[in-house]
Amino acid sequence: MFYIGCHLSASKGFYNMGETALSIGANTFQFFTRNPRGGSAKSIDEMDVRKFLELTSSGKIGKIVAHAPYTLNLCSADESIREFAKNTLADDLQRMEYVPGNFYNFHPGSHVKQGVDAGIKYITEALNETLSPALSTTVLLETMAGKGSEIGRSFEELRAIIDGVEYSERLGVCLDTCHVHDGGYDIVENLDGVLEEFDRIIGLNRLKAIHLNDSKNPLGAHKDRHEKIGDGYIGLEAFERIINHPSLSGLPFELETPNELDGYAREIALLKNIYK
Ligand code: FE
Ligand code: FE
Ligand code: ZN
Repeated sequence: MFYIGCHLSASKGFYNMGETALSIGANTFQFFTRNPRGGSAKSIDEMDVRKFLELTSSGKIGKIVAHAPYTLNLCSADESIREFAKNTLADDLQRMEYVPGNFYNFHPGSHVKQGVDAGIKYITEALNETLSPALSTTVLLETMAGKGSEIGRSFEELRAIIDGVEYSERLGVCLDTCHVHDGGYDIVENLDGVLEEFDRIIGLNRLKAIHLNDSKNPLGAHKDRHEKIGDGYIGLEAFERIINHPSLSGLPFELETPNELDGYAREIALLKNIYK
């Protein structure tokens, strides 16, 4: 099964996102759990959740991906920011229990000037305080482009986080094609090699979702500027290999390209067309 979707606005609730996804040919979607710049989340509407769960039980929508706000930084140098991030994470995961068994993706964080090791220590501490077998959501660390002091720029950094987490059964990775390409992993010329490296360092069993984005910048640029599928340095032929790669089969592919709904609908149609 090819699960393809895109980032949608959560402002009208889960059911609306489900209907919107279906209307543009998608069978999965991603959404922000709250304003991407942080702040409070709107309260869960149980009626909306019920209607959405009915829709997903029809089988037309696969697993969905929640995305934490960009401002969430579990390894900030500022203790109050770390605390806020940890509380946001815990609150988001509680709310995700209304739609059990899905994914929650977050950016590991930026260590600013504390160094990678100190950053990883904060991130693992926060995850150890938050993750528990009582939660049904799989929490995903996103691969990052390595802009500034972002943690998660290499597979080794993600592995180090996973190694520090005691309850890691529901801890996985979301691979962002723009980010890994900007991070220097050549998924255009050497997709097999990159996935083998991922498998060796992290394990493909941890890979749970893909962010499908072209990049405005060349390999290793560490910039993180998403481009429409086929219009950037990754290119359509590489995306054809990515969506058809046996190691990625069955994963949800989420577009985060610079598009409105009609543009997403066109990209979804294009990708379905080259999916074998
Ligand atoms: Fe992201
Ligand atoms: Fe992403
Ligand atoms: Zn990005």
